[in-house]
Amino acid sequence: MNGYFDSNATTPLHPAAREAWLEASERFWQNPSGLYREAGAAKRELEEAREQMADWLGCGPEEIVFLSGATEANNAVMRHFSRLAAAGAVSGIHPAPADPAVGIGIAVSALEHPSVAEPAEFEFGARLHRIPAREGGTVCPEALRAIAARRPALISLMAANNETGVLQPWREALAVCREFGVAFHCDAAQWIGKMPPLGLGECDFVTGSAHKFGGPKGIGFLKVPSGGRPLRWLRGGPQEERRRAGTENLPAVAAMAAAWKASEQWRQDRHPEQLAAGRDAFEKRLRELLPAARVIPEKSDRLWNTSLITVPPPGNVKWLSRLSALGFQVSTGSACSQGGGASEVLRSMGLPEESLGQVLRLSGGMDTTEADWLALAGALVAVVGSILDKPAVTGALPQG
Ligand code: PMP
Repeated sequence: MNGYFDSNATTPLHPAAREAWLEASERFWQNPSGLYREAGAAKRELEEAREQMADWLGCGPEEIVFLSGATEANNAVMRHFSRLAAAGAVSGIHPAPADPAVGIGIAVSALEHPSVAEPAEFEFGARLHRIPAREGGTVCPEALRAIAARRPALISLMAANNETGVLQPWREALAVCREFGVAFHCDAAQWIGKMPPLGLGECDFVTGSAHKFGGPKGIGFLKVPSGGRPLRWLRGGPQEERRRAGTENLPAVAAMAAAWKASEQWRQDRHPEQLAAGRDAFEKRLRELLPAARVIPEKSDRLWNTSLITVPPPGNVKWLSRLSALGFQVSTGSACSQGGGASEVLRSMGLPEESLGQVLRLSGGMDTTEADWLALAGALVAVVGSILDKPAVTGALPQG
């Protein structure tokens, strides 16, 4: 049985990624910036991975910047716009706002991961506008349009939410941004590897992270626009066209491309309904056996692998520890918000205060079968029984 239900936090390394990592480490260990033949071979490997990824996204290879992951990518975007604002400059990607003096800073959705929300807040303070969410867990399109009409320098909306799995209307948001000449950033960390990536390359900025789709931790990318003011994120070297200095991590990049390829193949071999079959069977079983549990938000389009549920008392940490004892690894929400209190994202969706501590996030992966999902439903029912029978087990909790 596979009891791992925390794939939105991270995924195990795919065998193809491991193989690519080892091969690149052994065959192309030279510094890709070197001028001798062997370094040239390493550089070619790097550029091949870049081209492959650009093809999947639908953008030019020169628009892909490799960096350490989604947190770094999101920070880079916020710093870029903050520097432009400090210099009184506009991004130059789209026609400038009618009057930059009345610019309202930037806008990010209320659903964003802390790696977008916190640097945005840090860099922009009072000039940061939040685009509210609707109860169903999507950004409010009317509010997004109203803010875009005021021409902020940037709008940021994720592709899929890490806590609820709800798919966001990023294509529509991109169209609205185009209409008003606003730059658009999409954090696609949860989308890539699970959903078709083509079209994301049309966004000005796109964030991706390998360990969410079977790649190694500590590698990801930021898609940037080819026009406009160039990003200067890390200084001190010519790598990545001076956009991100530091010796390129070729083995990790090769592994990221291999993991992405494997997940594309895996998904394309399946019918869309087949992808969600295990999760859907789980939710159906849960409704029958544990009617006190609720799926949130049940009616919205979600990632095929995610189920966010509220469970009856006691609180979710007790549930997590009981499930862990039974061999199931789940999360009380975003792993990154552990210790940060209740989820702001769920609050913004209007989840009542008393439910915030009752949430369990269950996220399967490529290897999770329907039988695994049904075993999880059985375990939840067993936990209810054990909670009614005896006092809770205490002890150290695993961190997601
Ligand atoms: N954005 C989203 C939507 C995420 O789910 C995560 C990971 N929880 C991140 C950003 C941060 O990713 P990384 O671990 O690559 O920094």
